[in-house]
Amino acid sequence: MPDIVDAATRSRMMASIRGRDTLPEMRVRRALHRAGFRFRLHARTLPGRPDLVLRKHRAVILVHGCFWHRHDGCRTASTPSANAGFWQAKFSANVARDARNRQALMDAGWRIAIVWECTLRPRLAGATIETLSDWLRSAVPFVEIPPAVPGSTHPAPLPYPDADTAPVPLRRVAETSGPE
Ligand SMILES: [Zn+2]
Repeated sequence: MPDIVDAATRSRMMASIRGRDTLPEMRVRRALHRAGFRFRLHARTLPGRPDLVLRKHRAVILVHGCFWHRHDGCRTASTPSANAGFWQAKFSANVARDARNRQALMDAGWRIAIVWECTLRPRLAGATIETLSDWLRSAVPFVEIPPAVPGSTHPAPLPYPDADTAPVPLRRVAETSGPE
């Protein structure tokens, strides 16, 4: 079958499937680099290979595509009507894996920023990067940009074997010490 897209487009498509080196992620990288921050990319040694790792700030930044990572309340996170069962299973697995990775990162003492793709559109990106920069210079354990909608069930709760090992819900951390 002949290629119907050029090489750059194909590379972008593949990147978005792998979830690495996506356009939104590149925007974050470029802006933070310009602002003087230095980071590692997709560190293999950390749970879920976080997109950006800023060791000096004890921080990781996860740039989440709204569709694959199921941004709660976001227009972009629609569910395709064909093969709905397949998509539901796929999405549940993604959300559960994200939650596991976040928990493992928190347990290891990392601060976590979740940046949703929709907040990196050109009109919003400036404010997002500003919030992110402020957060990096702070000691706040968790930030989500944009902040979660009230009553959000995402991130999904984890199936902990017993209550003693249950972590402090991420949402509570965000509410008590977030910059908003
Ligand atoms: Zn979104």
